[in-house]
Amino acid sequence: MMMKWGTLFRCLRELRMSNSIQSGTDCDLVAAMGRVFGFHQFRPNQEEIVRAVLAGRDVFAVMPTGGGKSLCYQLPAHLLDGTCVVISPLISLMKDQVDAAGATGLQAEYLNSSLGYSEQGGVLHRLASGELDLLYVAPERFARGDFLAALKSVRLCLFAIDEAHCISEWGHDFRPDYLTLSRIVTEFPGVAVSAFTATATHRVQQDIIERLGLREPFSVRASFDRPNLFIRVESKDDVQMQILSFLRRHPGESGIVYRTTRADVESTATFLADRRIKALPYHAGMETHVRKANQDAFNRDEIHVIVATIAFGMGIDKSNVRFVIHGDLPKNMEGYYQEIGRAGRDGEPAHCVLLFSYGDITTIRYFIDKMEVASERAIAGRKLDQIVKYAGSTRCRRRQILGYFGENYEADNCGACDVCAGDVERADATVEAQMIMSAIARTSERFGAGHIVDIVVGAETKKIRQLGHDRIKTYGVGADKSKDKKDWRRIVDNLVAQGCVAISGGRYPVLAIAPKGREVLFGRAKFEIFRKKVKKAVPTRVRKPGRAADVVGEYDKDLFEHLRVVRTRLARRRNVPPYVIFSDRTLHEMARDLPRSLEAMQYITGVGEQKLRQYGEEFLAAIRYYRSLVRPGSAQAETYQITREMEAGGLTIEQIARKRGLSASTIAAHLERLVLNGCKIDLNRHVSAETRKKIEALFQTYGRHRLKTIIEASGETVTYEQARLVRALLETDSATAIPWR
Ligand code: ADP
Ligand code: ZN
Repeated sequence: MMMKWGTLFRCLRELRMSNSIQSGTDCDLVAAMGRVFGFHQFRPNQEEIVRAVLAGRDVFAVMPTGGGKSLCYQLPAHLLDGTCVVISPLISLMKDQVDAAGATGLQAEYLNSSLGYSEQGGVLHRLASGELDLLYVAPERFARGDFLAALKSVRLCLFAIDEAHCISEWGHDFRPDYLTLSRIVTEFPGVAVSAFTATATHRVQQDIIERLGLREPFSVRASFDRPNLFIRVESKDDVQMQILSFLRRHPGESGIVYRTTRADVESTATFLADRRIKALPYHAGMETHVRKANQDAFNRDEIHVIVATIAFGMGIDKSNVRFVIHGDLPKNMEGYYQEIGRAGRDGEPAHCVLLFSYGDITTIRYFIDKMEVASERAIAGRKLDQIVKYAGSTRCRRRQILGYFGENYEADNCGACDVCAGDVERADATVEAQMIMSAIARTSERFGAGHIVDIVVGAETKKIRQLGHDRIKTYGVGADKSKDKKDWRRIVDNLVAQGCVAISGGRYPVLAIAPKGREVLFGRAKFEIFRKKVKKAVPTRVRKPGRAADVVGEYDKDLFEHLRVVRTRLARRRNVPPYVIFSDRTLHEMARDLPRSLEAMQYITGVGEQKLRQYGEEFLAAIRYYRSLVRPGSAQAETYQITREMEAGGLTIEQIARKRGLSASTIAAHLERLVLNGCKIDLNRHVSAETRKKIEALFQTYGRHRLKTIIEASGETVTYEQARLVRALLETDSATAIPWR
């Protein structure tokens, strides 16, 4: 059996012998975590769980998405002798999980049906040789005798069961394959079992523990709170423009836009793409391979935005999702919280925006009315009411959400929702509410919001004339107010959300006054709406939107952009998603601390020994280069800067070369370097589409490393400069995926 991390292991063994591993005087779990993962602090509950695992106990843990469950078994897997078997339900995620573990230096493999016969043989061989820290498998493997036999012939340190709620029929995601996992404790009585999930009610928790046969497990139920998520609700008026304006304020960030219908997914994706946002659609009606390609493009940061129905979700492990926008009202709180939970897994601040309007309620209610089973219809209706209430309320979003899931949120001000941040202001709208409800009453509660608003503002529509509604008292009472139809519509939304006005009637819904509304109508109660305050200009340095306990704070946004380009380039070369190289958190810290040496680089969260070796120099170089750019006067900065400015002034490479008395290839090299370091220069201007195509084809055949080969192969019909520029284009233009060789 191969020894991992000799010193540390010895140290642990000594500790264990002296029985002090539980006592806190460790030698040092934190140091080990730092070396491998580059993390310098445990997240809540991680340390306790790791200690329990190291002490050989079974573990059951409910931790929210992004809570850092994988570290709880990966760190022990690294420290203990023997292999940790990880059971994970999603085959599509395993490769990324293994790549991520491998990037930290852990020896990891996966076994599932996507591997060919001989590849599986290779993995089993590595398993048998005892060199694996981690083996990821799908649950169905446990139904196979040959697999159990293979496991029995090697030394195991732990079984880690991910998404453990899948074993419970009480959960929302039951998978029959998981039932075979109950064999683990009987077949491998000497090996500890840890079960992890992000969602489990107490009932599901009990069920999981019983079915898996966990033996007096060390149990953890962490808070569901995700402090780094900034949660806001906004009135929806022009949904596509609102989404676009958000995206323009968050250029280059990765995020998900949820829409309810496939048609809306398609139209929003097209709308955004037409406006030069890198966005692609995703829904269950698309062909599987297209859908998968779009998901991969998102995962790899080749596009920034995925516009999707809720079919997009399972199987995203991407840690740098910086925002989740709901363009439509979700059906219930469970779905909503799960969807926004996909943001900010790396612990860095992330935005969650729900665009809410009355119209969505009717759409959802229409679908609910079509449900066949009465009891299900009733539950769905209640859940819809709850999310409407949430969206329409002016109470702290976080307190409402956590309260919904049975958790009491203590703090007065969460600091990371629109209500607590004071982005929302309350305003008295009793008079306006009375006008609307009066119009509803005077038309016998038989009309929908559009018509009612028309009456209030005194619109001259055919319908109003035909029905004689221009003769009722309320007609036009709101005309002289400084409000347009949208504002009135928003008040209707608020009346509905606050339960003053009820909606009924399926496809053509009508408004009616609820008892609570009557109180307002007759002046016995006040009615308040909340509205968005006008924001001040956003500062160039990034301000944290969330209030994560441990935040990076301000960092240099431009440098972060440079580093992101470097990350994408490395990721593409290694054929892994960018977040596997470094998380956003890590790049943010680099952009804050500007490390100058490998030594300093070590202190950055997420830079373990292996990543330091593999990527340290590359990132240091980018930071050094960036510093030189921002430090006027350095010779290098100046020469690059001059080239950059002349290029921006519209000169060709030859013109710049002539003016500067340098060779064209030097100028091309400047441009290449500038682009690789994240400067936005449109190189297409310097290479014709035809030449580019030709050079791309040559790269396909000969690889990108040796420009000389390319030039010769072209019969000298292309120049070094052109080849250099096309290479830089390929590195930064995500539309192409020509392999590095
Ligand atoms: P979960 O499986 O609970 O959703 P992950 O294990 O994927 O969460 O971890 C989420 C992110 O947090 C990952 O990017 C991981 O590298 C990072 N992370 C985990 N533990 C720590 C820690 N102690 N310090 C900093 N980052 C951490
Ligand atoms: Zn709040």
